[in-house]
Amino acid sequence: MTLETGFERVTLPLEFPFTIARGTTEETENVIVRVGDGEHIGIGGAAPSAHYGETAATVEAVLPDLLAVVEEVGDPHQLARIERRMVERVNLNPAARCAVSIALHDLVAKRLDLPLYRYWGFDPEEVVETSYTIGIDETGAMREKTATARERGYSTLKIKLGTGRDEEIIETIRDEAPDATIRVDANEAWSPREAVRKIDALAEYGVEFVEQPVPAGNPEGMRFVRERSALPIAADESCVTLDDISRVAEIADIANVKLMKCGGLREARAMFAAARAHGLETMLGCMTESNASIAAACHLAPLLDYADLDGSLLLAEDPYDGVPLSEGEIDLAGVGRGTGVSVR
Ligand SMILES: [Mg+2]
Repeated sequence: MTLETGFERVTLPLEFPFTIARGTTEETENVIVRVGDGEHIGIGGAAPSAHYGETAATVEAVLPDLLAVVEEVGDPHQLARIERRMVERVNLNPAARCAVSIALHDLVAKRLDLPLYRYWGFDPEEVVETSYTIGIDETGAMREKTATARERGYSTLKIKLGTGRDEEIIETIRDEAPDATIRVDANEAWSPREAVRKIDALAEYGVEFVEQPVPAGNPEGMRFVRERSALPIAADESCVTLDDISRVAEIADIANVKLMKCGGLREARAMFAAARAHGLETMLGCMTESNASIAAACHLAPLLDYADLDGSLLLAEDPYDGVPLSEGEIDLAGVGRGTGVSVR
């Protein structure tokens, strides 16, 4: 069959400037991919991360080669063949490949008139709620954002740390949200000894787990922290592709998979299977992303112990609708067909 493909860059302002240990962003650029069969159009999104070597420009540079693979194969149901050939044609560039993977999955499920989770046979009741992330800010501003998040019904908060006042921040947020589930992400900011000390303090405030306390380049440091940590440790920057899972199992308790790191929905499913086999808990995270990609990520929720799929929730406005996420509940049963993505 003849498949029509195309892509466009979109600039998405964030609701609040978003600061993590590495820096601040006020807007994000995604690249939206479309694959059509003449009747249905599958939509996918790339949310490139400079930390992993990609920008909107690099995504746009490789998409013509990736979409040429789609047109050559000419059958969207040949997901394994297309994804294998994309890696052969353009290695690295995972966000670019991911956008194509998502668009194809959306198209296939639309052609079958099924929501994606039903195509996979997943149980829509087996979902966890997504966390909502509070970026680093003045402590008072983080208190206000916490109050806003609670008013919007989010009961699981992910707090970005990596400052000289980390304990003050958590004390403040716990005071503002005494009954919320609180997770922490240090984004590689701490030294191993500092991490152990800080995690001891965080445990006093009932934090659930701590993500990437020390740099991914220091796996021995991660192991050091995990062996002494009062809380479970999640690996994010240390957990990029399937190859990493066995190593992550040696140094962490939770594998934080992201579609934009691993390159597609099939790779993500393989990572979750491998993580289970290695005794890891599973988490799916995201970049600052539109529903063009978040919608697909939501269909993996039945495989997760923890979901951090707030990319679209952090945008000032998302041009795409996706899976309903009211109060953090991932409402897969509310999806008609495909990933649930549609132009708003
Ligand atoms: Mg993280």
